[in-house]
Amino acid sequence: RRRLRAEHDLAASARRYALAAHGAHDGLWDWDVAAGTVYYSPRWKEIVGCAGTDVGSAPAEWLGRIHPDDRARVEAELFRAGEPSGSLLEVEHRVAHRGGGWRWVVARGVRVADAAGAVTRMAGSMSDVSERKRFEEQLLHDAMHDSLTGLANRGLFMDRLERAIAHARRRGHPFAVIFLDLDRFKVVNDRVGHLAADGVLVALARRLEGCVRAGDSVARLGGDEFALLVHDVEDPAVVARRILHELRAPFEAAGQQVVVSASMGIAVSSTGFTRPEDALRDADAAMYRAKGRGRARFEIADAELHERSLRQLALESQLREAVEGGELRLHFQPVVVMETRELVGFEALVRWQHPVDGLRPPDDFIPLAEQTGLIMSVGRWALREGCRQMQEWRVAYPSAAGVWLSVNLSSRQFLHPQLVHEIMAALADTGFPPGRLRLEITESVIMDDAAAVGLVLQRLRDEGIGVAIDDFGTGYSSLSYLHRLPLDTLKIDRSFVREMHTDPTLEAVIQTVISLSGNLRLDTVAEGVETHEEAAALQRMGCRIGQGFLFSEPLEPAAAARLLAGREQRTGA
Ligand code: C2E
Ligand code: CA
Ligand code: CA
Repeated sequence: RRRLRAEHDLAASARRYALAAHGAHDGLWDWDVAAGTVYYSPRWKEIVGCAGTDVGSAPAEWLGRIHPDDRARVEAELFRAGEPSGSLLEVEHRVAHRGGGWRWVVARGVRVADAAGAVTRMAGSMSDVSERKRFEEQLLHDAMHDSLTGLANRGLFMDRLERAIAHARRRGHPFAVIFLDLDRFKVVNDRVGHLAADGVLVALARRLEGCVRAGDSVARLGGDEFALLVHDVEDPAVVARRILHELRAPFEAAGQQVVVSASMGIAVSSTGFTRPEDALRDADAAMYRAKGRGRARFEIADAELHERSLRQLALESQLREAVEGGELRLHFQPVVVMETRELVGFEALVRWQHPVDGLRPPDDFIPLAEQTGLIMSVGRWALREGCRQMQEWRVAYPSAAGVWLSVNLSSRQFLHPQLVHEIMAALADTGFPPGRLRLEITESVIMDDAAAVGLVLQRLRDEGIGVAIDDFGTGYSSLSYLHRLPLDTLKIDRSFVREMHTDPTLEAVIQTVISLSGNLRLDTVAEGVETHEEAAALQRMGCRIGQGFLFSEPLEPAAAARLLAGREQRTGA
């Protein structure tokens, strides 16, 4: 009797369920397991594309339409043994539509079980969730792909790389990662505009796909950075060469022919990576080496590079802490009138007071800071600290009033949209006057993005801040080009000064630079003056101002203060 009651209650709940499902525009089904028949409602038939046809009542009408990959899962859920009567079921699966293709449906229902726990009857609904599935798949796809090129994005690439690493370790399937970065893509951007440049990236993506086999992947990591994962190749250099070859043909952009070149770094699985980040980092480091060796080429990461990139990684985190933990210092190198040795400026040069290694020179960490973006915080600190220190001296020593402060800016800093704003804030907060500040930038900054640079320079000029071209002569800019930009100072690179005496043509070059610089009304400062002969020769050629070990090395703040105090006594007497 109790069983009958249960059957009765269940029938009632199944009816309610069916009614609700009907209202929700879901298909209905009622399966008498013992009899081997199923009732399918008209809406159920419609979902599988059989509206109005004679579907019959065989369970196979449903089970037979289920996608082969889903079928076992569906049957396991429907006939789950040991469930009490009234247990709910829910399963999502694909069914074959009569018109072709697959539909995603979700079946929900209740089970009736006998005393032994075997399912005797079940009833419920079926709803078409294809739309939702499509949407979910789209979202999933979007989350893993680059919207511009349709290539895998960094996340998906790292997933695949992780799988490749596991495969390589378990079954010895070798792979290689190629990190690709376009050379001077900014120039293309400037020439043809962003939209057309995007078109070049898309076309490049297709060419890269053409350079690898079906199971390999090509990903866009961001901007003009791409990565390739190639499996089971004897020699990944072959792939890199193929890419270099593919890039020889120009791209069509905004009606123009554009040629782009790329630098690539390759990491191979035999290095024994355990984490995808490590493989990508080595490939990245090799790519940097390729850039350093002249671009439009590739380099393969070796043990030495691997070691170095590990050291760099450690250094990066140390440097991050150094910036926050106050381990950076500024030294101040006097800039003088060579003839009288009168102090006219200081160049602020950053140092790292390392707790173990002692004082580290900037060449040890500035390049890394530039690569990782840490340069932004290093540079921000140097600018503020320089202004603060100088202002302190200005208050203490009135003779410091006319002394200017030079601060070095890396290209990344210079093109930062907040640059002028941040400088003005640093000046306002410290009280150091804009007219006494000079920013030193290198020629490469100017060459990178001429239009943007011109705007920033003009804004700095409007604020009264001076700008010097540092290391002049090491880049490619011509003086005729410089004259169109609002600049104040030209610093002759110390390599020129050093080799001046051994090479007469170099002396002629320096002479020309000094004369033209004067014609452009720029201050000319000679760097790295170490001997009296150099100083004398430079002065003969018309360069009055110099900086170098002959006059003074960069000084720690206390020594710089003593210098100012000494001047005080002399001038004050
Ligand atoms: P730089 O701007 O060309 O700075 C001048 C460098 O030449 C300094 O090296 C200085 O110590 C050195 N020097 C000065 N006089 C002589 C000389 O007579 N002979 C020789 N052989 N060298 C001389 P330092 O301090 O090691 O700086 C190296 C570079 O690090 C700088 O070159 C600059 O590019 C970069 N740097 C330094 N501080 C900063 C900073 O705050 N921000 C950025 N972005 N870069 C910085
Ligand atoms: Ca400098
Ligand atoms: Ca310099």
